[in-house]
Amino acid sequence: MDIKSMTLPELQEEMAAIGEKSFRAKQLYEWIHVRQARSFDEMTNLSVALRERCRERYDLTTLQVVRMQESKLDGTRKYLFELKDGNLVESVFMRYKHGNSVCISSQVGCKMGCRFCASTLDGWERNLTPAEMLDQIYAITQDTKERVSNVVVMGTGEPLDNYDNLLRFISLLTDENGLHISQRNVTVSTCGIVPKMYELAEEKLQITLALSLHATTDEKRRRLMPIANKYGMKELMDACRNYADKTGRRLTFEYSLVGGVNDTKEDAEELIGLAAPLGSHVNLIPVNPIKERDFVQSNHAAIAAFQKRLEKGGINVTIRREMGRDIDGACGQLRRRHMEEQSE
Ligand code: SAH
Repeated sequence: MDIKSMTLPELQEEMAAIGEKSFRAKQLYEWIHVRQARSFDEMTNLSVALRERCRERYDLTTLQVVRMQESKLDGTRKYLFELKDGNLVESVFMRYKHGNSVCISSQVGCKMGCRFCASTLDGWERNLTPAEMLDQIYAITQDTKERVSNVVVMGTGEPLDNYDNLLRFISLLTDENGLHISQRNVTVSTCGIVPKMYELAEEKLQITLALSLHATTDEKRRRLMPIANKYGMKELMDACRNYADKTGRRLTFEYSLVGGVNDTKEDAEELIGLAAPLGSHVNLIPVNPIKERDFVQSNHAAIAAFQKRLEKGGINVTIRREMGRDIDGACGQLRRRHMEEQSE
């Protein structure tokens, strides 16, 4: 049994089931999620006998750091972690004025196939458990000895394709008895799995949902993102509207600017048409070129003009700072490079 993925009420039931006092659950939970113990042996206020029982019954996952690269430009740190089964995932630690942010992976590999993304090149291996998502944050907190205040589920994988584990992860992460990160400081990024966006809306969470839009017409979006063949633009926008209505939260549209593909005046005008009625914030990402594809970044003038047009159209827009450009900052690049080096 994966004890780190259990909620406090579940752990209380579990303690009752094995004949332990209920307050033991709270102690265990605190060791796991607040003190972030890496073994039962560290839990010194539990009896040796109980620690032994826990070791026999439960699995306490931990991650091993395989590589860590720190950007000389902005202090961003990129971690490559090894999971218990030998699979690799990557996470990023970023320092901002408003606090530290960790970007986590939700799956080993990805099956979504977005053309510009390195995470999907080797396909999908498996889902991450709630514990393995938490572990990325806990391992980084321990390594940096700094508090993490924001979590973005924007690393490798499609979080809404690992829906149940994602919800459990969010509930553990934001639990007042655990790390207690505010829901408002959690962002989940999706390529647009429409039925799951409806389901998520019903949860009425205060998290930010970011939609990877990247194009404004079905035709253009299909060229960049295979998921657009499954869900058309109209369906997608209806799902966004429903999400905003049900949760009262504005969505963010992520829009990676690819030179000559989606960065024209017409693209900007169409994007205004989509974002304005929803009050969506637009986050422009100069595409981070990966060597396996020939997409190029829009030039600076095109990016600036695109931003200006959106602003004129009344859109709240930011350009994502390219953090960690010198350390394989783009999704999936570090893992992929490491695996290539290992197989040489
Ligand atoms: N599967 C989720 C989350 C992971 S990707 C999603 O699609 O949203 C996180 C964001 O980075 C997405 O907006 C994705 O489209 C974008 N992205 C991936 N590779 C990129 C690259 N090389 N350059 C720019 N943006 C990229």
